[in-house]
Amino acid sequence: MKIAFIGLGNMGGGMAANLVKAGHELRAFDLSPAALTKAAENGCIAQPDPQGAVRGACAVVSMLPNGVIVDDFYHTHVIGHAPGDAILIDCSTIDVATARRVAGDAADKGYIMVDAPVSGGIAAADGGTLTFMVGGSADGFARAQPVLSAMGKAVIHAGGAGAGQAAKICNNMLLGASMIATCEAFILAEKLGLDLQTFYDISSKASGQNWSMTSYCPVPGVGPQSPADNDYQGGFAAALMLKDLRLAMAAAADTGANVPMGTRAAELYEAFNISGQGSTDFSGIIKNLK
Ligand code: NAD
Repeated sequence: MKIAFIGLGNMGGGMAANLVKAGHELRAFDLSPAALTKAAENGCIAQPDPQGAVRGACAVVSMLPNGVIVDDFYHTHVIGHAPGDAILIDCSTIDVATARRVAGDAADKGYIMVDAPVSGGIAAADGGTLTFMVGGSADGFARAQPVLSAMGKAVIHAGGAGAGQAAKICNNMLLGASMIATCEAFILAEKLGLDLQTFYDISSKASGQNWSMTSYCPVPGVGPQSPADNDYQGGFAAALMLKDLRLAMAAAADTGANVPMGTRAAELYEAFNISGQGSTDFSGIIKNLK
């Protein structure tokens, strides 16, 4: 299948490479010459302009930084330029309202578009083990599914347009709050004189158990290997956690949802980023909480 891939950064670079490995013909566009060169090394056909990438494509896949860029890119370069029967798949993490608006504008011109944000970081993008949460029609999901399957271990239909983004920000709001709560539990355990490995052994088998503890423990040397064991390098950058929490706060304000724990998590990640830790893993917030 001829696929246009837009946005070949940390995530998109590996995703495009996996589509090439699956036998697709990839026409890649990115504003960054370095990203394009790397994509070409991975078997993509680098395109000097966006229209060259989307012309003749059966599918357009994008992995861009934010909603403003996605909105502009689709309105300027995709809608009215890609073939009318191309499936449009935006995998970027953006706000629900923009996802719905762009999909609606695409539908007005006869296109089928889905939002398909991901869970999983750069390693999962490289390894083809992302989880995709897809928002769009049943037809859109059926058409996007084979493309997304080549880049992920799970592709789940979340509901109509914007539902993928909704699922993503709700999940990451829960993750942000649960990471902070897990850090706090270890901090208090230490103050109370508990051995942290012993506390882990108890809590990981008791009702406090959660993913931030048992799969991504913020304490070095405790639990399975995690960014904490590498001085909080790699993993999921705190700046991206803050981005997702801001999207969740905007969605909560739009809908009137009461999210006090999410609000506090957003405040604490704002402070963590202001302290200059935005590029470190989000579990590193334990250092600031201490
Ligand atoms: P990135 O900054 O590494 O890559 C984005 C790419 O888009 C860059 O190469 C940039 O040059 C390109 N770009 C920007 N504007 C463009 C335009 N107008 N036209 C063409 N290309 C353009 O970011 P990333 O880490 O790959 O993240 C991409 C998306 O994935 C974001 O929405 C992010 O929130 C989401 N995400 C990231 C992670 C992660 O761990 N990095 C995890 C889950 C989701």
